[in-house]
Amino acid sequence: ILILAIESSCDETAAAVVKNGRQVLSNVISSQIDLHKLYGGVVPEIASRKHIEKINQVIEEALENAEVTLDDIDAIGVTYGPGLVGALLVGVAEAKAIAYAKKLPLVGVHHIEGHISANYIENLELEPPFLCLVVSGGHTHLVCVKDYGTYEILGRTRDDAAGEAFDKVARAIGLGYPGGPKIDKLSKEGDPDAIPFPRAHIEDSPYDFSFSGVKSAVLNYINGCKMKGIEYNRADIAASFQKAVTDVLVDNAMHAVKEYGLNKFAIAGGVASNSSLRAAMKQACEKNEIEFYYPSPIFCTDNAAMIGVAAYYEYINGTRHGWDLNAVPNLKLGER
Ligand code: ATP
Ligand code: MG
Ligand code: FE
Repeated sequence: ILILAIESSCDETAAAVVKNGRQVLSNVISSQIDLHKLYGGVVPEIASRKHIEKINQVIEEALENAEVTLDDIDAIGVTYGPGLVGALLVGVAEAKAIAYAKKLPLVGVHHIEGHISANYIENLELEPPFLCLVVSGGHTHLVCVKDYGTYEILGRTRDDAAGEAFDKVARAIGLGYPGGPKIDKLSKEGDPDAIPFPRAHIEDSPYDFSFSGVKSAVLNYINGCKMKGIEYNRADIAASFQKAVTDVLVDNAMHAVKEYGLNKFAIAGGVASNSSLRAAMKQACEKNEIEFYYPSPIFCTDNAAMIGVAAYYEYINGTRHGWDLNAVPNLKLGER
């Protein structure tokens, strides 16, 4: 089964060809980061317009790189939520047009199901059930993947997503957008124990997260230094903040792993490419004697290969969408 997958939920226009759910034949990503950087974040209207400009070219390139044509494709997979409505609509309209013209089945995919499914690409032995920590720009979910397409959300953030916190702290210390990779890099020069930023644990909800406190603590620390006329060390702030976030993510995840008695744990989403988080999770999993899975960085941030993988499992489970498929900006995980 060959799936042509399309992703346009935020600021990357992406297309991929995926064979039998695990083999990525092509993975083309056109990022708009340079465009949005000027504004310090994603501007929805600009994102939609750029998707329209790029999408045909990206799809053609994905087919070309995979050395196939539309005649070889068995189904079209597309992200239809959650995300920016205007951005999602570009991918959904494109997918519907191709599916209609080529008389192909259409499979709408949940973006976060895509992020989780990225783990299947390079870990051919990975199968549900397993636990997955999704840490992306808009989500922080601790998910029990019970089966392909069947998810139970054990915990989630009460306020900021992990990636959002990285981006906001990066902005506060003048690193620019997107902040995650820049904090990751600068942290290597800093002391993670220099500043004791808070680790929020939510009473009675051991799997929920809160990152607005640590973000505020960083802002207060910077303002305090400015008022006292003290120079602050940006690398120490970055490293200490990153450590605070990592500690909480590892604690909650390992708590869930033990409680649910699962021996497989995966991470997914843009923040899953963070080197400190990967190292800490690896160590914690080794200590608890469970298998640790993580995608390569290119499959952590937004891409269409992960959507192709998710679409394949939805497809063989019988999911088909009609011509009325619409963008659903707040789509819930597990909904169809
Ligand atoms: P969502 O998937 O929730 O809709 P999104 O698609 O915008 O949101 P992703 O593409 O999964 O999010 O990830 C982008 C986020 O990942 C950004 O917040 C970015 O700062 C963060 N990020 C990327 N690389 C790193 C890194 N090395 N360390 C920390 N954060 C990172
Ligand atoms: Mg992005
Ligand atoms: Fe994403």
